[in-house]
Amino acid sequence: MEKLQNFIDGKYCAPANGNYIDNYEPASGMVYCQIPNSDAEDVELAVKAAERAFPIWSKMSIDERSAILVKLSQGIEARMDEFVKAESRDNGKPLSLAAHVDIPRAVSNFHFFATAILHYASESHNMEGVGVNYTLRKPLGIVGCISPWNLPLYLFSWKIAPALAAGNCVIAKPSEVTPYTAYLLGKVAQEAGLPDGVLNILHGEGGAAGDAIVKHPKIKAISFTGGTKTGEYIARTAAPMFKKLSLELGGKNPNIIFADCDWKEMMSTTLRSSFANQGQICLCGSRIFVERSIYDKFKEEFVQKVASTVVAHPDDPTAKLGAVVSKMHLEKVLSYVELAKEEGGTVLTGGERVVLDAPYENGYYLRPTVIEGLAYDCRTNQEEIFGPVVTITPFDSEEEVLMMANSTQYGLSATLWTSNLQRAHRMANEIDAGIVWINAWLVRDLRTPFGGVKASGVGREGGWEALRFFTEPKNVFVKY
Ligand code: NAD
Repeated sequence: MEKLQNFIDGKYCAPANGNYIDNYEPASGMVYCQIPNSDAEDVELAVKAAERAFPIWSKMSIDERSAILVKLSQGIEARMDEFVKAESRDNGKPLSLAAHVDIPRAVSNFHFFATAILHYASESHNMEGVGVNYTLRKPLGIVGCISPWNLPLYLFSWKIAPALAAGNCVIAKPSEVTPYTAYLLGKVAQEAGLPDGVLNILHGEGGAAGDAIVKHPKIKAISFTGGTKTGEYIARTAAPMFKKLSLELGGKNPNIIFADCDWKEMMSTTLRSSFANQGQICLCGSRIFVERSIYDKFKEEFVQKVASTVVAHPDDPTAKLGAVVSKMHLEKVLSYVELAKEEGGTVLTGGERVVLDAPYENGYYLRPTVIEGLAYDCRTNQEEIFGPVVTITPFDSEEEVLMMANSTQYGLSATLWTSNLQRAHRMANEIDAGIVWINAWLVRDLRTPFGGVKASGVGREGGWEALRFFTEPKNVFVKY
């Protein structure tokens, strides 16, 4: 069986403790490779390599750094097919999704920050007759990047690319559930000519390798995307060490549909925003609020379309949904369907496993699920399920839907469907979210701030925000 390796100091190597853990293929439920179960010893080796590399990388001209990162982006593009297949196999997502979203977006993340750094400028503040201040923006040194399993390479690159572009050396850990494309990234980094030790990729469990990254005194900042509970733990651990923290956490996003929306566009986008990637995108709209005058019409058409959505093996070109990421996650999502029933909800469609023909009968497939009849403040409507499950709830007024939308501990994103311009702006202004889409979903401009409020996180990724996070400002005053 294939054994993946860590990537430290520009070379692939086994974990110091020699321990490995199994990696499952969600489409079949079978183990298909093993990954290092790294610990503090591997983190120490990576930090030593990064310390040696930092003077080289941080003092390299911006043009040279940019050229290497452009090559890295092109290297992923050149291996598109290999990355797409690996991502789909590791995560269970349809091949078509990895081909159209995950891997192309990882390519553009590297390309964006490789070129953004060419245009990044720091400020100067003139004091008339007194002197001038200028602000240097220096790389932090060694930084830690920890990412989740839902959009593996895409979210990994969203952190690594700005960290490297800003001149830092990186110790990165992908999710132990989806390690494969991060493993492949080491080869691309070698081919692109990234100096040894600039990017170190460690595999293993959060409680061991991840924890050792968070606790290492020489790692100056942690950029983390994952669950809110893990984010809380990381904040508690890293804050007394005065590390910079960027935390992108969970969500329970509202999708608010007014009667005056563009029906066709709303319907097709709502199907995607509910179930893309098996509902495992932090930005999915899992709470659908529908104005009462169109509630029955919406329910009928939506449920009929969801019921006929194809759940199939990720390689099947007709698959709209593949497998969810793990057995544990499948069980968690199903337990929420049971909870919804206990809370008085009615399952309108779905709510059960899909069993494919052999040899995929043990794969983690779930039918997309729509539930109605729940109170806005019940657990099903308040807690993150992170699977192909949505609830639908009618509303009568803007005030009422705002109250329900803002009632959770989360505040990542929101979608609004209306043709009333004033209402769109009014609602966007009032809603508790870091990202609001009006008559759209998942449209991405890499220059915009990305992140959430409340329990959805602290800090922003994207554009200059990311480059600011990965640099330290130093003000210098010169007297006239
Ligand atoms: P998770 O928190 O379990 O794990 C995320 C990463 O953290 C993994 O690499 C894991 O190994 C590591 N980790 C776990 N415990 C750790 C510890 N004690 N110290 C250091 N690292 C540790 O999350 P997950 O299940 O992989 O991902 C799903 C979650 O991610 C959902 O809550 C989802 O909303 C969230 N998410 C948020 C965003 C966003 O941008 N806000 C994007 C994608 C996913």
